[in-house]
Amino acid sequence: MSATIIDGKAISQQIKDELKEKTAALKEKGIEVTLAVVLVGEDPASQVYVRNKKKACEYIGYNSLSYELPEETSQEELLKLIEELNGRENVDGILVQMPLPKHINEKAVIDAIDPSKDVDGFHPMNVGALCIGEQGFVSCTPAGVIQLLKRGCDGQIDIAGKECVIVGRSNIVGKPMALLMLRENATVTVTHSKTKDLANVCKRADILISAIGKAGFITKDFVKEGAVVIDVGINRNAEGKLCGDVVYDEVAEIASAITPVPGGVGPMTIAMLMNNCYESAVMRMNNSNIK
Ligand code: NDP
Repeated sequence: MSATIIDGKAISQQIKDELKEKTAALKEKGIEVTLAVVLVGEDPASQVYVRNKKKACEYIGYNSLSYELPEETSQEELLKLIEELNGRENVDGILVQMPLPKHINEKAVIDAIDPSKDVDGFHPMNVGALCIGEQGFVSCTPAGVIQLLKRGCDGQIDIAGKECVIVGRSNIVGKPMALLMLRENATVTVTHSKTKDLANVCKRADILISAIGKAGFITKDFVKEGAVVIDVGINRNAEGKLCGDVVYDEVAEIASAITPVPGGVGPMTIAMLMNNCYESAVMRMNNSNIK
């Protein structure tokens, strides 16, 4: 068997094109979508992420406000900027690019963002809403994985009732991923570095989602024949080439569907961020009773 490739590039493009159309319709009602992007310092990877987010805004038709602050910016200064953006009626989303310089407490920054503008979905109120099944912003990477499962393979992947094993339990991927799969009625197992007999636990999965951050960790010994395999990992292999957690070639031989790296989960994260910005603008429109 050779797995069907779930093409994150194509699916993310589809989502961005849908948003572009909906954004044009919103504009006709006088509503513009605005994302404020805050970058502190000069981390090259963060600069690339920020640039890509601004490019996506431009493509869809959002306004992007860019705040590129020097490395030595104090926590107080950053919190002041967030407070100002929280109060600006025309700002729908606030994104502070992580990681922040060591002298700034990331939790304090996340907590300071107005939950209704927290398009990254990291604020405890949004995490709590996801946990108890209420409406709120969902962390973009796991939300992207759900879209890959729903839109990939011509919509033929059923999630309800399936055994899903997630490898990794971080706050930004593993845990929200588990909650989302639960919301989709999968039977969910969350594994981590202390899990015993990990390969056999993974082999139970109809849907295996790996978010570890270790190149070549998930071999075919972790995968049941016919499983759907989603690789969230972004790593560099010994040759410096971008790769996931999954040994793609051998796993693709036995899986029914698989995401590649690059071109799988990666592009979905920005698409879902853009989706959260749109949702935020719609909420603002509904609150101001413009129909
Ligand atoms: P973290 O380092 O925060 O979490 C990694 C998780 O993997 C932890 O829960 C850890 O377990 C678990 N883990 C580590 N080693 C093992 C092991 N040997 N066996 C089982 N579990 C293990 O990483 P993130 O969640 O932030 O990211 C994970 C990967 O996803 C990274 O490669 C990252 O680059 C990528 N990523 C990709 C995104 C995208 O857009 N595609 C977005 C975000 C992340 P424990 O808790 O016990 O330590």
